[in-house]
Amino acid sequence: MDRKILIVGNWKMNLNVSQASILVHRLDQKIKIHKGVEMVLAPSTLCLQPVSMEIDRRKFRLSAQDAYYKDEGAYTGEVSFTMLRDMVSYCIIGHSERRLYFNETLETVRDKVSAAVRNEITPIVCIGETKTERTAGETKTVIHDQLITAFANLTSNEIENIVIAYEPVWAISTFGGEIAKPNDVQEIINFIRDQIKHLFGPIVAQRVRVLYGGSVSDQTVGTYLNLSGCDGALVGAASLNCYKFTGIIDVASKVHQTRLKIS
Ligand code: PEP
Repeated sequence: MDRKILIVGNWKMNLNVSQASILVHRLDQKIKIHKGVEMVLAPSTLCLQPVSMEIDRRKFRLSAQDAYYKDEGAYTGEVSFTMLRDMVSYCIIGHSERRLYFNETLETVRDKVSAAVRNEITPIVCIGETKTERTAGETKTVIHDQLITAFANLTSNEIENIVIAYEPVWAISTFGGEIAKPNDVQEIINFIRDQIKHLFGPIVAQRVRVLYGGSVSDQTVGTYLNLSGCDGALVGAASLNCYKFTGIIDVASKVHQTRLKIS
Protein backbone atom coordinates (compact mmCIF):
# COMPACT_ATOMS: atom_id res chain seq x y z
CA MET A 1 0.00 0.00 0.00
CA ASP A 2 1.73 3.22 -1.07
CA ARG A 3 -0.69 5.96 -0.10
CA LYS A 4 0.61 8.65 2.18
CA ILE A 5 0.39 8.31 5.93
CA LEU A 6 -1.65 11.15 7.41
CA ILE A 7 -0.51 12.64 10.72
CA VAL A 8 -2.74 15.35 12.21
CA GLY A 9 -1.66 17.45 15.20
CA ASN A 10 -4.66 18.71 17.18
CA TRP A 11 -3.46 21.63 19.29
CA LYS A 12 -6.88 21.99 20.95
CA MET A 13 -7.36 25.20 23.00
CA ASN A 14 -3.63 25.71 23.51
CA LEU A 15 -1.11 28.30 22.29
CA ASN A 16 -1.78 31.98 21.63
CA VAL A 17 -0.71 33.55 18.34
CA SER A 18 2.92 34.11 19.32
CA GLN A 19 3.29 30.67 20.94
CA ALA A 20 1.79 29.08 17.82
CA SER A 21 4.24 31.00 15.68
CA ILE A 22 7.18 29.74 17.77
CA LEU A 23 6.01 26.11 17.45
CA VAL A 24 5.55 26.45 13.67
CA HIS A 25 9.02 27.90 13.37
CA ARG A 26 10.55 25.04 15.43
CA LEU A 27 8.65 22.37 13.51
CA ASP A 28 9.75 23.91 10.25
CA GLN A 29 13.39 23.76 11.34
CA LYS A 30 13.22 20.13 12.48
CA ILE A 31 10.91 18.55 9.92
CA LYS A 32 11.89 18.07 6.31
CA ILE A 33 9.58 17.43 3.39
CA HIS A 34 8.40 13.81 3.63
CA LYS A 35 7.05 12.41 0.40
CA GLY A 36 5.24 9.60 2.19
CA VAL A 37 3.73 11.56 5.06
CA GLU A 38 1.04 14.20 4.88
CA MET A 39 1.48 16.49 7.88
CA VAL A 40 -1.48 18.51 9.09
CA LEU A 41 -1.62 21.08 11.89
CA ALA A 42 -4.87 22.00 13.63
CA PRO A 43 -4.36 25.22 15.60
CA SER A 44 -7.17 27.14 17.31
CA THR A 45 -9.45 29.11 15.00
CA LEU A 46 -7.77 32.32 16.17
CA CYS A 47 -4.35 31.09 15.07
CA LEU A 48 -5.37 29.65 11.70
CA GLN A 49 -4.86 32.87 9.76
CA PRO A 50 -1.39 33.75 11.12
CA VAL A 51 -0.24 30.12 10.95
CA SER A 52 -1.45 29.92 7.35
CA MET A 53 0.93 32.76 6.49
CA GLU A 54 3.86 31.08 8.25
CA ILE A 55 3.79 27.43 7.26
CA ASP A 56 5.79 25.95 4.45
CA ARG A 57 2.99 24.50 2.34
CA ARG A 58 5.27 21.88 0.89
CA LYS A 59 5.41 20.39 4.39
CA PHE A 60 2.22 21.23 6.21
CA ARG A 61 -1.47 21.55 5.54
CA LEU A 62 -3.99 23.07 7.90
CA SER A 63 -7.06 21.79 9.66
CA ALA A 64 -9.67 23.61 11.71
CA GLN A 65 -10.80 21.98 14.96
CA ASP A 66 -14.48 22.72 14.46
CA ALA A 67 -16.85 25.04 12.57
CA TYR A 68 -20.56 25.79 12.45
CA TYR A 69 -22.78 24.06 9.92
CA LYS A 70 -24.62 27.15 8.63
CA ASP A 71 -22.73 29.03 5.93
CA GLU A 72 -23.55 32.54 7.24
CA GLY A 73 -26.07 34.45 9.32
CA ALA A 74 -27.03 35.56 12.80
CA TYR A 75 -25.07 32.97 14.81
CA THR A 76 -23.09 35.06 17.24
CA GLY A 77 -19.67 33.68 18.07
CA GLU A 78 -19.56 31.05 15.36
CA VAL A 79 -17.23 30.60 12.38
CA SER A 80 -18.53 28.77 9.29
CA PHE A 81 -16.92 26.29 6.94
CA THR A 82 -17.54 28.86 4.20
CA MET A 83 -15.26 31.30 6.04
CA LEU A 84 -12.56 28.66 6.38
CA ARG A 85 -12.69 27.17 2.92
CA ASP A 86 -9.71 28.96 1.40
CA MET A 87 -7.57 28.57 4.48
CA VAL A 88 -7.84 24.93 5.55
CA SER A 89 -7.80 21.57 3.80
CA TYR A 90 -9.39 19.67 6.69
CA CYS A 91 -11.67 20.16 9.67
CA ILE A 92 -11.89 17.89 12.71
CA ILE A 93 -15.56 17.13 13.33
CA GLY A 94 -17.24 15.37 16.25
CA HIS A 95 -14.20 15.22 18.51
CA SER A 96 -15.16 13.53 21.78
CA GLU A 97 -14.45 16.76 23.67
CA ARG A 98 -17.09 18.49 21.54
CA ARG A 99 -19.53 15.62 21.93
CA LEU A 100 -19.04 15.46 25.72
CA TYR A 101 -18.37 19.07 26.79
CA PHE A 102 -20.48 20.88 24.19
CA ASN A 103 -23.28 18.33 23.84
CA GLU A 104 -22.77 17.80 20.12
CA THR A 105 -25.33 15.29 18.97
CA LEU A 106 -25.09 12.74 16.18
CA GLU A 107 -27.23 15.07 14.06
CA THR A 108 -25.00 18.10 14.69
CA VAL A 109 -22.01 16.05 13.59
CA ARG A 110 -23.94 14.95 10.47
CA ASP A 111 -24.76 18.58 9.58
CA LYS A 112 -21.16 19.69 10.12
CA VAL A 113 -19.86 16.86 7.93
CA SER A 114 -22.26 17.92 5.16
CA ALA A 115 -21.27 21.59 5.54
CA ALA A 116 -17.58 20.73 5.31
CA VAL A 117 -18.08 18.68 2.14
CA ARG A 118 -20.30 21.44 0.65
CA ASN A 119 -17.42 23.86 1.23
CA GLU A 120 -14.74 21.52 -0.14
CA ILE A 121 -13.10 20.94 3.22
CA THR A 122 -12.24 17.32 4.06
CA PRO A 123 -13.85 16.26 7.33
CA ILE A 124 -11.81 14.29 9.85
CA VAL A 125 -14.74 12.60 11.56
CA CYS A 126 -13.93 11.43 15.09
CA ILE A 127 -15.76 8.40 16.42
CA GLY A 128 -15.20 6.29 19.50
CA GLU A 129 -16.75 4.77 22.57
CA THR A 130 -16.49 5.82 26.20
CA LYS A 131 -15.14 3.45 28.86
CA THR A 132 -18.66 2.81 30.13
CA GLU A 133 -19.85 1.91 26.64
CA ARG A 134 -16.90 -0.44 26.09
CA THR A 135 -17.43 -2.15 29.43
CA ALA A 136 -21.11 -2.60 28.58
CA GLY A 137 -20.16 -4.30 25.30
CA GLU A 138 -21.64 -1.44 23.26
CA THR A 139 -18.54 -0.37 21.32
CA LYS A 140 -19.68 -1.61 17.91
CA THR A 141 -23.21 -0.26 18.31
CA VAL A 142 -21.82 3.17 19.23
CA ILE A 143 -19.39 3.18 16.29
CA HIS A 144 -22.12 2.02 13.93
CA ASP A 145 -24.53 4.76 15.05
CA GLN A 146 -21.84 7.46 14.85
CA LEU A 147 -20.82 6.36 11.35
CA ILE A 148 -24.26 5.91 9.88
CA THR A 149 -25.50 9.29 11.10
CA ALA A 150 -22.37 11.24 10.19
CA PHE A 151 -22.57 10.10 6.57
CA ALA A 152 -26.35 10.13 6.20
CA ASN A 153 -26.44 13.05 3.77
CA LEU A 154 -23.44 12.17 1.61
CA THR A 155 -23.00 10.25 -1.61
CA SER A 156 -20.57 7.33 -1.91
CA ASN A 157 -18.25 9.52 -3.98
CA GLU A 158 -18.14 12.10 -1.20
CA ILE A 159 -17.54 9.50 1.49
CA GLU A 160 -14.48 7.99 -0.15
CA ASN A 161 -12.59 11.27 0.36
CA ILE A 162 -13.41 11.54 4.04
CA VAL A 163 -11.10 10.77 6.93
CA ILE A 164 -12.39 8.77 9.89
CA ALA A 165 -10.47 8.95 13.16
CA TYR A 166 -11.13 6.10 15.58
CA GLU A 167 -10.49 7.58 19.00
CA PRO A 168 -11.65 5.50 21.97
CA VAL A 169 -12.52 8.20 24.50
CA TRP A 170 -10.78 6.33 27.35
CA ALA A 171 -7.50 6.37 25.38
CA ILE A 172 -7.40 10.16 24.90
CA SER A 173 -4.80 11.64 27.25
CA THR A 174 -7.21 14.08 28.89
CA PHE A 175 -9.87 11.38 29.47
CA GLY A 176 -7.65 8.78 31.13
CA GLY A 177 -5.04 8.08 28.50
CA GLU A 178 -5.13 4.29 28.64
CA ILE A 179 -2.95 2.81 25.93
CA ALA A 180 -5.29 0.88 23.64
CA LYS A 181 -4.23 -2.65 22.79
CA PRO A 182 -3.28 -2.98 19.11
CA ASN A 183 -5.61 -6.00 18.72
CA ASP A 184 -8.56 -3.99 20.03
CA VAL A 185 -7.78 -1.13 17.65
CA GLN A 186 -7.39 -3.58 14.76
CA GLU A 187 -10.78 -5.09 15.52
CA ILE A 188 -12.49 -1.68 15.36
CA ILE A 189 -10.62 -0.53 12.23
CA ASN A 190 -11.80 -3.75 10.54
CA PHE A 191 -15.31 -3.13 11.83
CA ILE A 192 -15.31 0.46 10.49
CA ARG A 193 -14.21 -0.68 7.02
CA ASP A 194 -16.76 -3.53 7.08
CA GLN A 195 -19.53 -1.08 7.94
CA ILE A 196 -18.49 1.28 5.14
CA LYS A 197 -18.33 -1.66 2.75
CA HIS A 198 -21.78 -2.82 3.76
CA LEU A 199 -23.29 0.66 3.44
CA PHE A 200 -21.39 2.20 0.54
CA GLY A 201 -19.55 -0.60 -1.26
CA PRO A 202 -16.04 -2.11 -1.37
CA ILE A 203 -14.36 0.71 -3.31
CA VAL A 204 -15.42 3.35 -0.80
CA ALA A 205 -14.38 1.05 2.06
CA GLN A 206 -10.94 0.67 0.57
CA ARG A 207 -10.46 4.35 -0.30
CA VAL A 208 -11.71 6.01 2.89
CA ARG A 209 -8.85 6.84 5.22
CA VAL A 210 -8.98 5.59 8.81
CA LEU A 211 -6.74 7.07 11.49
CA TYR A 212 -6.12 6.06 15.08
CA GLY A 213 -6.05 8.57 17.94
CA GLY A 214 -5.53 8.22 21.67
CA SER A 215 -2.32 9.15 23.53
CA VAL A 216 -0.25 8.46 20.43
CA SER A 217 3.47 9.05 20.99
CA ASP A 218 6.66 8.36 19.11
CA GLN A 219 6.86 5.13 21.17
CA THR A 220 3.42 3.82 20.18
CA VAL A 221 2.69 5.29 16.76
CA GLY A 222 4.63 2.61 14.83
CA THR A 223 2.50 -0.18 16.30
CA TYR A 224 -0.73 1.53 15.30
CA LEU A 225 0.51 2.49 11.82
CA ASN A 226 1.45 -1.13 11.21
CA LEU A 227 -2.12 -2.28 11.77
CA SER A 228 -3.88 -3.33 8.62
CA GLY A 229 -6.00 -0.52 7.18
CA CYS A 230 -4.60 2.20 9.46
CA ASP A 231 -3.75 5.30 7.39
CA GLY A 232 -2.34 7.54 10.09
CA ALA A 233 -2.81 9.13 13.47
CA LEU A 234 -4.64 11.99 15.13
CA VAL A 235 -2.29 13.33 17.79
CA GLY A 236 -3.28 15.59 20.68
CA ALA A 237 -0.87 16.32 23.54
CA ALA A 238 2.27 15.11 21.73
CA SER A 239 1.62 17.51 18.84
CA LEU A 240 2.33 20.48 21.13
CA ASN A 241 5.87 19.26 21.72
CA CYS A 242 8.21 19.83 18.81
CA TYR A 243 10.46 16.87 19.66
CA LYS A 244 7.61 14.42 20.25
CA PHE A 245 5.75 15.46 17.08
CA THR A 246 8.92 15.27 15.01
CA GLY A 247 9.56 11.80 16.45
CA ILE A 248 6.09 10.70 15.37
CA ILE A 249 6.67 12.02 11.84
CA ASP A 250 10.02 10.20 11.66
CA VAL A 251 8.39 6.90 12.63
CA ALA A 252 5.58 7.48 10.10
CA SER A 253 8.11 8.12 7.37
CA LYS A 254 9.93 4.86 8.18
CA VAL A 255 6.67 2.90 8.19
CA HIS A 256 5.85 4.36 4.78
CA GLN A 257 9.25 3.39 3.39
CA THR A 258 8.75 -0.16 4.66
CA ARG A 259 5.30 -0.31 3.05
CA LEU A 260 6.83 0.76 -0.28
CA LYS A 261 9.43 -2.01 -0.07
CA ILE A 262 6.78 -4.63 0.69
CA SER A 263 4.34 -3.57 -2.05
C1 PEP B 1 -7.20 13.89 20.62
O1 PEP B 1 -7.59 14.72 21.39
O2 PEP B 1 -7.70 13.75 19.49
C2 PEP B 1 -6.12 13.03 21.06
C3 PEP B 1 -5.89 11.93 20.42
O3 PEP B 1 -5.43 13.47 22.15
P1 PEP B 1 -4.17 12.76 22.85
O4 PEP B 1 -3.23 12.38 21.76
O5 PEP B 1 -3.62 13.80 23.76
O6 PEP B 1 -4.71 11.57 23.55
